[in-house]
Amino acid sequence: MRSRTADGAAASLRRVECDHLPGGIVTRYYRNASRLRAPKTMPKPAARVLDLTTHLAPAMPGTGSPNVFIGGQPAWRTMIDIHTCAIPIAPPFPAPHGPEICYLGSTTVLVNFQMACRMLDILQGLGPPNPFMIGMVTVEIGDIGFGLASPASINAFATAMRAISKNWGAMNAAQRLAAMQAALNASLPPGMPALTLTSSALPATTWGQLDFATWSVQINQSLLSGGALTEDQFANLTMTVYHETRHGEQWWNAAQHQAANGTPANRIASNMGIPQSVGTAAAANPAPRGTSQGAMGEAVQESVYGSRSGYRNDVLNDATNHYDQYRALPEEEDAWRQGDAAEQAFRNTP
Ligand SMILES: [Zn+2]
Ligand SMILES: [Zn+2]
Repeated sequence: MRSRTADGAAASLRRVECDHLPGGIVTRYYRNASRLRAPKTMPKPAARVLDLTTHLAPAMPGTGSPNVFIGGQPAWRTMIDIHTCAIPIAPPFPAPHGPEICYLGSTTVLVNFQMACRMLDILQGLGPPNPFMIGMVTVEIGDIGFGLASPASINAFATAMRAISKNWGAMNAAQRLAAMQAALNASLPPGMPALTLTSSALPATTWGQLDFATWSVQINQSLLSGGALTEDQFANLTMTVYHETRHGEQWWNAAQHQAANGTPANRIASNMGIPQSVGTAAAANPAPRGTSQGAMGEAVQESVYGSRSGYRNDVLNDATNHYDQYRALPEEEDAWRQGDAAEQAFRNTP
């Protein structure tokens, strides 16, 4: 069964997941990278069959939507439209990148039950990430966000974190943890079991990580038990906690997606390596095709547990040397987007 391997891949994620050290190698690379830093929440031109990709070939064959045409060309959809990329992986490997698929488009604009793709949304095969270079400039597709990605949730968490930062010195580690836990719980979607925030002895470069086996987000204990944090440290803590909690929501969406396909609760839990209680909750809250939650769940399922799990494992096992690929994983691109938005909202909150 594929799920055994996927569990292994998932476990390795917990070790590699999210080096959020400000100024660290990974973060610094990110700050200097331009392509993947383009604004993610702004509306972007709709991508279609034959629109040019960064690997300098028009996206094809697709086939694209049979019934949604934009500027005369079929709309490009996540998961089911395929770009056959003939570019060789890299010398000395003559094999082409092969089939490239976009796994993350607009989470709130769906075409034929799939996310609509836009300029800068990323096709991925065996080569480097291949964003659409262009789209239909007169037809822009936005993404208002769902769940933790909704502006209301992001702003509420940022406001709560600002209040917590002002009161930080008067609280002990347990109280700091409880205050952040309460702020997060207020933003979780209906039906999703709350993630437990815990204080953990993590490496200095790891501020936090999702441990989905215990349905918890672990925070580096040195942040919680130390004294005052700087403004930058608080901003990074806000980003980290929100990023990891969004991962939790993604895993929840994947469980909901399985539930919609008729997978029983105990199988959902064992397939994903998540607690039985989360599988049971997902079975009671399925996310069918045609919903944002279902579309996200399908993408995460495919990336983490499905046909992309081997590729993902390779990327995560050497994330420093595959940083673009790491950032382009659908669950990472989405989590970074929400974490960055929370950080920005925190900085903008007086
Ligand atoms: Zn390619
Ligand atoms: Zn992440």
